[in-house]
Amino acid sequence: MNMKLGNLVQDQWIFGSGAGNVLTNAVDGEPVAHITSDGLDFADILHHARRVGGANLRRLTFHERGEMLKALAVYLMEHKQEFYALSSATGATRADSWVDIDGGISTLFVYSGKGRREMPNDHVYLDGPPEQISKNGTFTAQHIFTPKLGAAVHINAFNFPCWGMLEKLAPTLLAGVPAIVKPASSTAYLTELMVRRINASGILPDGALQLICGSVGDLFDHLNCQDTIAFTGSKKTAEFLQQHSKVVSESVAFTAETDSLNASILGPDAIPGTPEFDLYIKEVTREMTSKAGQKCTAIRRIIAPAAIAGEVLEALSSALANIRIGNPQNEDVNMGPLASQGQRDEVRQRVAELSQESKLIYGGGDDFAVIDANAQKGAFFMPTLLHCEKPLTSATVHSVEAFGPVSTVLPYDNLEDAIELSRLGGGSLAQSIFTNDNKVARELVLGTAAYHGRMLVINRNCAAESTGHGSPLPHLVHGGPGRAGGGEEMGGIRGVLHYMQRTAIQGSPETLTAIGHRWIKGADQRDPGVHPFRKTFEQLEIGDTLVTDSRQVTLDDIQHFAEFTGDNFYAHTDEVAAAKNPFFEGRVAHGYLILSFAAGLFVDPDFGPVLANYGVDDLRFAKPVNYGDTLQVRLCCKQKTLRAGTGYGEVRWDSEVSNQNGDVVAQYDVLTMVATDEHWASVN
Ligand code: NAP
Repeated sequence: MNMKLGNLVQDQWIFGSGAGNVLTNAVDGEPVAHITSDGLDFADILHHARRVGGANLRRLTFHERGEMLKALAVYLMEHKQEFYALSSATGATRADSWVDIDGGISTLFVYSGKGRREMPNDHVYLDGPPEQISKNGTFTAQHIFTPKLGAAVHINAFNFPCWGMLEKLAPTLLAGVPAIVKPASSTAYLTELMVRRINASGILPDGALQLICGSVGDLFDHLNCQDTIAFTGSKKTAEFLQQHSKVVSESVAFTAETDSLNASILGPDAIPGTPEFDLYIKEVTREMTSKAGQKCTAIRRIIAPAAIAGEVLEALSSALANIRIGNPQNEDVNMGPLASQGQRDEVRQRVAELSQESKLIYGGGDDFAVIDANAQKGAFFMPTLLHCEKPLTSATVHSVEAFGPVSTVLPYDNLEDAIELSRLGGGSLAQSIFTNDNKVARELVLGTAAYHGRMLVINRNCAAESTGHGSPLPHLVHGGPGRAGGGEEMGGIRGVLHYMQRTAIQGSPETLTAIGHRWIKGADQRDPGVHPFRKTFEQLEIGDTLVTDSRQVTLDDIQHFAEFTGDNFYAHTDEVAAAKNPFFEGRVAHGYLILSFAAGLFVDPDFGPVLANYGVDDLRFAKPVNYGDTLQVRLCCKQKTLRAGTGYGEVRWDSEVSNQNGDVVAQYDVLTMVATDEHWASVN
């Protein structure tokens, strides 16, 4: 292949003008593609995203967007061999490509699932419970999230051309926001291929995704306060872009993932001969060499007890000696080249800087075997290990990032020093700790967590299932303070909310119920005319309320419940002991007895559309129930979530149990599954 990359602009593939820059194959230096975005109208690109893409996406509910992500993930899985075939040109081995391609697609799957499980089948996302702000509850408040009305501009790094795009795209689309993706030039050909397949699938609505291969031109001049920038790359570029006058004057949301001198700490207990020592050597070696060390999360600083620094250096050197460098398509190879010759030259330069204060222990040179490739033409670099004997007073090891298979051992004398060394990195994306001493783990975590976005503590019990130091997961936040950019991505639904606006809405409970589609205390409650359990999902309305008959709780009931369940806790069985408890005046009913009696009061026993009770949320026993008290339940349809295609929806019921004085004794949400009209008709 040797062609010009396309730009996906306003749902059309167009080529930039001029010849563009040549992109080369990392393995043999041969041209792969030309890249240019010259001549594109960047204002139009933004306009299309906002006007067409945003409008199309916002028409869908969170669940529909989740379904869309799943369909896309399935489609990309079917085409993944094409991506693998091209991925080796970036220098990636099969294992590296798996992280990039399968890892990226799995992010779509995870966000699809999370969106449908953790978000409502609606257009508005409620942020926590309502806030009580008036004495009588007629004026209340609810925080909500709605999609921003602009575009998400994604500027990605070269090291993960697929994952880097998909990890940003999944939460963006789930939020209902269109994306404009700008991949790093050197590996943009792989991103472009994936976008071609996404576009051909027809799964995303018009305007949801546009691609710029090359410079972003004057795009930033047209940004406004509804746009979001998510940047991954060097600190230098992030700082430059963050200072753009539009970003500043329009307060454009800017999240940055930048350089990171990630550390891994070997605990003082993890001496040679322990499983933790062996696990450490294996993980550091893997982190140094996977993706040829071009991972933002790779271990750059190896913080190890001074007493065993020699053994650590020796064990790492022999492990690195087993790494076979060469053509990533050759199955014997476990480390490919860097992404480009330019990148290799830069890493060389950084190693030279690091060597001013650290001793070269392994690698660093040009004399090494390369399998199935020409060492002169490819961007190969040897795994390189350094030793910084005085890390507390060295500056370079805490400031110079060699974005390649390069790492430095930093010895420490005590935990305080280990903590100080970790902090000297100035903020990172990920830190790991290898120890089987949980006191050490706690001290290190509390001493350093404020400097890191993600931390993993590895010991013999969890290592086999560990996802690894360098693997960001869609469920967990990815980002870090300081040098790491101060941004945050993913972290499950947290990552979706970055593309939405949080607004505090104040008004009457009735109005807020109508806006958020979740019943708020004080809003209307209607008698539906029939028992609400006789209504199908569609027939039920938010606010439909059942007020039950009453039932008295007797001492015999409490005694019987204690014997029947075996819950003979003294507060239910011993009058004298119970009275000594500051909360009770004598024997009281079990909380679960109250719940059971409540269910007996509100349940409609006959075969009906309510299919199952799958739990309760937010259960509180507000007041003790003494024998002789009388219970009554008020059950109100609070929220409905249709599970499309299943024949049912989830219905949440606000449930309040009160005593004869009208005091609430128990409060909780009952969760049920209720048949849809169609399903109910099919079984009757
Ligand atoms: P870079 O030069 O900062 O490039 C990053 C991205 O910014 C590329 O897409 C690049 O496009 C674009 N860019 C550069 N100048 C721009 C400008 N004036 N306007 C708009 N876009 C611009 O970074 P790099 O050297 O390629 O990447 C390596 C660095 O990224 C390393 O330092 C590494 O630590 C960091 N990184 C961080 C993470 C993370 O998640 N934190 C992940 C990977 C890499 P072009 O390629 O077209 O110049």
